[in-house]
Amino acid sequence: MAVVTDATMPELPEVEVVRRGLEPYLRERRIDGVSVHHDRAIRRHLAGERDFIDALTGRQVETVSRRGKYLWLPLDDGRALVAHLGMSGQLLLPPPDQSDETHLRVRLSFAGADRDLRFVDQRTFGGLFVDDLVDDGDGGAVPASVAHIARDPLDPKFDDREFSRALRARDSGIKRALLDQSLISGIGNIYADEALWRGRLHYDRPARTLNSRQVAELLGHVRDVMTEALAEGGTSFDDLYVDVNGSSGYFDRSLQAYGREGEPCERCGRPIVREPFMNRSSYRCPTCQRRPRSA
Ligand SMILES: [Zn+2]
Repeated sequence: MAVVTDATMPELPEVEVVRRGLEPYLRERRIDGVSVHHDRAIRRHLAGERDFIDALTGRQVETVSRRGKYLWLPLDDGRALVAHLGMSGQLLLPPPDQSDETHLRVRLSFAGADRDLRFVDQRTFGGLFVDDLVDDGDGGAVPASVAHIARDPLDPKFDDREFSRALRARDSGIKRALLDQSLISGIGNIYADEALWRGRLHYDRPARTLNSRQVAELLGHVRDVMTEALAEGGTSFDDLYVDVNGSSGYFDRSLQAYGREGEPCERCGRPIVREPFMNRSSYRCPTCQRRPRSA
């Protein structure tokens, strides 16, 4: 079931659902086989397929980590297998007797485990690559390719005060700032629109006009909507977004702005409008989220 007309990427809750599905199964497993079924899926592994296979075979997966929309498996040699799901990437742990998916791109098998990890990607915008882990500046490690991505709002080390200061220094509209992965990660179109609806904020409200109390409230809405979405398995904006068992989430039933053009605002009854925004769309209530006069 798709509620959306725009092409949509998985956001933090959808990627976290996948992480939580993988972690208990993959933790401390040793990789004993790697097969690449489509070289486009490893195009970001610049050293090529042979190197990709050699870098992974025999390595132990320590855990499954995430920042924003990026997911990675730290390995026992100080490197990590990084996954970017793109628009349609799936990481699946199907039963061993299940036949290969049509769009199977990469398969990993593990010593003593009956299930393989399968990377399936219809549109092949996503991919896997092996990357070095670097110090995250706070006692942890992060893949070098992910280091420029800001911490996400569900990260225990996210700094609310620093975020507030940085956000209020921006001249851009509030939604543009929320989508900037170098300021805060994991928020895309869906959860930005939902948090702004909850906060009664127009997407073009200049970020610098918010006071620190308003930023704290907005951050609270972002966290609430993401936590609620996680509890419902994420938003099935696309038939392609599934958890590791191939099941869809159902948070799309709880959306109050995103994808609801023409439907009544649940607060005031006015129809939700859809407007062009950064080559995509923004959904808002024209009464609850009035356009700022000066913007
Ligand atoms: Zn309204």
